[in-house]
Amino acid sequence: MVGDLALLLLAALPLMGSPGPATLSLAGMAAAHGIPRSLRYAAGINVGTIGVVLLIATGTTAIVLGLPGMKTAATVVGGLYMLYLAWRIATAPPVGANEQRSHLPSFLGGFALAIANPKAYAAIGSLYRGSLVDAQQENHATVAKVLVLAFVAVAVNTTWLAFGAAIAAVLRDPRRRGSPTLSLHFCCLSPSRRCCSPDAFALERFRSAVYQRVMTAKILVSACLMGHAVRYDGAAKPLCHPAIERWRAEGRLVTLCPEMSAGMPVPRPPAEIEAGRTGASVVSGAGRVLEKTGGDVTEAFRHGAENALALALATNCRFALLIDGSPSCGSSFVYDGSFNGERVRGEGVTAALLRRNGIEVFSDREIDVLVERLAGEDEAAP
Ligand code: SF4
Repeated sequence: MVGDLALLLLAALPLMGSPGPATLSLAGMAAAHGIPRSLRYAAGINVGTIGVVLLIATGTTAIVLGLPGMKTAATVVGGLYMLYLAWRIATAPPVGANEQRSHLPSFLGGFALAIANPKAYAAIGSLYRGSLVDAQQENHATVAKVLVLAFVAVAVNTTWLAFGAAIAAVLRDPRRRGSPTLSLHFCCLSPSRRCCSPDAFALERFRSAVYQRVMTAKILVSACLMGHAVRYDGAAKPLCHPAIERWRAEGRLVTLCPEMSAGMPVPRPPAEIEAGRTGASVVSGAGRVLEKTGGDVTEAFRHGAENALALALATNCRFALLIDGSPSCGSSFVYDGSFNGERVRGEGVTAALLRRNGIEVFSDREIDVLVERLAGEDEAAP
């Protein structure tokens, strides 16, 4: 039996320890209030989860759910409770600092969430019924299984509580980063920006902190604007503006030279989009980029644009600040293909591909517009 109990324990750890309403709310509580102030809530979650184990082990769940209509009723009630929590998050007024003190997590809140937690019934039920513990030793087996599952419940809940507290410290420290994948998982907890109940409040605080750290809009910037000597002539075109330093300190800037990312050297012959075409034409295969020396560098320019787009998507850049006039980075004008210094309205290949994929592109001359745009974004953020 010991071996089977060990197997039950090993199976229970991932199933009961995976993210669910109770475990994530514990992490949220610890992140928002710290471990000491969340202990009553954690006790409620633990007692509620052990209650679920007992309801399943004693057959109460099976008896109750076996009554006519009870399965549907239980599903509806559990679903309504989860919807109620979601509704409280979505419709409550913004929380002020004082509300955090007046809505401390309670034992009852934790207990109610755990006992109504559909994931607990599904996970514990399948573990209990699927256990290979010898049915001949019925009483011992039942007690042993309950103890193992209760132990796992307390262990995983405590781990999530500690994790919430730990990741809160990470999120508060701008020099340290959490796992984006895990953080994004938390971001899915609540799509709203408001909350009022203690559990909803804790989740919202946690989600907001993650949002600020991970989802803050970043800006893809032309490397030459940031002072890198990557232009065709080996020069840079540094942009001096107070916002640049601020964004740099906020970790918003993602720097790239599309042409160098495609393997083009410095220096390199000047290149322009052929006459009558635009960056969008090059992206769609209907235009070329030619060097003054006659070389066709269309593929390299497309490749650089694709690199820029991939980097922007991977780093959550919803904005781009690109130097104007370049056959890659130009966003309001480019040169006409004659190499005579004649400008035409249009955009470069990278700017065109970024815009086609929903990234807002601003030229270096529009930096103040971008400042305004970001201020609006930050106000709208939770
Ligand atoms: Fe600057 Fe863009 Fe040209 Fe690179 S491709 S040198 S970043 S303008």
